[in-house]
Amino acid sequence: MYDVVVEKQPVLSRILSKINNSSVNVQAYLLVGEDHEELERCALTFAKVLICPDKYSEKCLKCNICSRIKSGNFAELKIIEPINGIIKKEEIINLRSFFQTKSIEGKNQIYIMKDVEFLNSSAANALLKFLEEPESNTVAIFTTTNLNSVINTIVSRCQIIKLNNNNIKKGLDFIKNMSGLDEDLINSTLDFLFTIESSNAKAFTMLKEFLNLFNTKELLKGALTVMLLSYKDALNYKIFKNMEYFNNETGIKNLCTYQNIDVLIKKISFILENVKKLEYNVNVTLFVSNIIIGIGEITDGQSNRS
Ligand SMILES: [Zn+2]
Repeated sequence: MYDVVVEKQPVLSRILSKINNSSVNVQAYLLVGEDHEELERCALTFAKVLICPDKYSEKCLKCNICSRIKSGNFAELKIIEPINGIIKKEEIINLRSFFQTKSIEGKNQIYIMKDVEFLNSSAANALLKFLEEPESNTVAIFTTTNLNSVINTIVSRCQIIKLNNNNIKKGLDFIKNMSGLDEDLINSTLDFLFTIESSNAKAFTMLKEFLNLFNTKELLKGALTVMLLSYKDALNYKIFKNMEYFNNETGIKNLCTYQNIDVLIKKISFILENVKKLEYNVNVTLFVSNIIIGIGEITDGQSNRS
């Protein structure tokens, strides 16, 4: 039995146990998986194993560092994620100077960089310089759901760890699970989204009805999740001619007949931003109105929309 057990991840458990029992000197790891939440969960456990000054165990009682990591209060663990679909150079420079000035409390200083395929090229260059500094106790944990899009020079400097994704079920159950919505509400969301896509004016006539159905923040968040999965599947269909969630739904096929990959990616980022905005106290009518307008405004400048 391994001394670090990451549920449903035997390969990762084996690697982490090995690290836990020796002083392995790898500067960058790249976790590849299909599910963002799973990647995040694994990256955090990974960080704890690398940071914990004692031998890490799931209920580490010897150090308070592990519990500070869990509550998000440990400064030597930095988490970086794309903003508006980009990880910028400034982020990397700030990170580097932070780690250069900070004294080390844990075994290593760690940064987790989520969705590392979103590094732009100047950020990637800055990151490469950072990775090449030999003496540092800084270890990078990158995550991606799309290994092919990660810049090669980054990939070649990482130990790649592919997560086990066998347990993730896609399809309607997955959508229900992710959104917390039942099938009727999922369909209402799709109707609304397809209306927004065809005509902003029509969507505004449906707004009141939509808000009556989705009358809590939780439900609205569920609707945004369905929209997000819709655009992801439009992208899947566009690139692979195959959907992961919606079983080749016609409405989603239509989404990709008149918009290009770039537009779909922008819409995915737009929805993600709004999921975050929803956590603040917002006026829901204004919020959904901005979604309608925002989606309408993202175009490649060539499509004919009403
Ligand atoms: Zn610990």
